[in-house]
Amino acid sequence: MSAPFLPFAQPEIGEEEIAEVVDTLRSGWVTTGPKVKRFEQDFAAFLGDPALQAVAVNSATAGLHLALEALGVGPGDEVITTTHTFTATAEVVRYLGADVKLVDIAPATLNIDPAAVAAAITPRTKAIMPVHYAGLAADMPALLDIARRHGLKVVEDAAHALPTTCGGALVGTLGSDATVFSFYANKTITTGEGGMLVTRDAALAQRARTMRLHGMNRDAFDRYTAKVPSWYYEVVAPGFKYNLTDIAAALGIHQLKKAHAFQQRRAEIAAQYDAALAGLPLILPPRAAHGDQHAWHLYVLRLADDAGIERDRFIERLFDAGIGCSVHYIPLHLHPYWRDRYALQPATFPHSQHAYERMLSLPIYTRMGDADVARVVAAVRGVLGAQ
Ligand SMILES: *Cc1c(COP(=O)(O)O)cnc(C)c1O
Repeated sequence: MSAPFLPFAQPEIGEEEIAEVVDTLRSGWVTTGPKVKRFEQDFAAFLGDPALQAVAVNSATAGLHLALEALGVGPGDEVITTTHTFTATAEVVRYLGADVKLVDIAPATLNIDPAAVAAAITPRTKAIMPVHYAGLAADMPALLDIARRHGLKVVEDAAHALPTTCGGALVGTLGSDATVFSFYANKTITTGEGGMLVTRDAALAQRARTMRLHGMNRDAFDRYTAKVPSWYYEVVAPGFKYNLTDIAAALGIHQLKKAHAFQQRRAEIAAQYDAALAGLPLILPPRAAHGDQHAWHLYVLRLADDAGIERDRFIERLFDAGIGCSVHYIPLHLHPYWRDRYALQPATFPHSQHAYERMLSLPIYTRMGDADVARVVAAVRGVLGAQ
């Protein structure tokens, strides 16, 4: 193999980000301050809805935890989410002492199945947490309708979904109680670690702002710039340490400006894969509904039953060809904690289980050139014996 290994994911950090971080370091203000405030304002403006408030946090996990906490989720409550997600989506429910009710996906979209959600509702159900898997919007009209009819809260895990649209509207503006984005290293924009909670609910935003910094009723920046004595604050709850730093926000301000261009490049790569892999024994990723936008955080293939090779071996062979791949996700019902805590069986989640056994994620990121895409295509065709 002469070509260097093609990693599964890589961030794209430009000179603008680097200069902004350096400016932050020289400014003397490295934790939550003016750049976090600017990033929050820019983020709300990006979503384009003046009623939205954005609350920056140090991870999407933190944002999901804060959203559920602010909605009063606690012991005795149940929260419904998809088994086909990263454990962060569900673990935050357990932080609060509530129970997770995992449900299956719709096989066509790999997103949470609204019919399965409706069937899982009990008198204890408090909230639904859809995940916009891979960057394709979940069926939000159906889910919001179920929530309205049963008086349930909705918190969207939008870790993959910047920028994704649903019915022409950006995820974040769809009318749920809160939406949480991730800026982890491999997400569509990155701050290294970071996240953003957005909501139209002013009380929820206020609670999240308080709880992201120790339950203090004003954050450090306000404390040192407002007129009341700089040393004064009140602790109103046992809060968390979830604030984003200005160093991270400096990255986010410039990453956000590139979010649409990044999406376009990802969509181009997805289209190249779609064209080059059509006709092979593969199930290609579902497309967004007509007129809608897919964020293409992930490009997830499924091996058809006549592919003649098992998924694990397929990934090994791509690895041997110098191509990094991954699997999204090992469903939660297979992980020891979730399996044992709720006595879960794969047969309860046939679509997630079936997809998991056949799926892999190909590299898709903005730093890939067309030659990299062609290399991945050639490797996939080679492994399938279809040169
Ligand atoms: C990455 C991810 C998260 C967690 O994001 P962090 O910012 O790393 O906390 C949550 N849910 C899903 C579906 C993710 O992919």
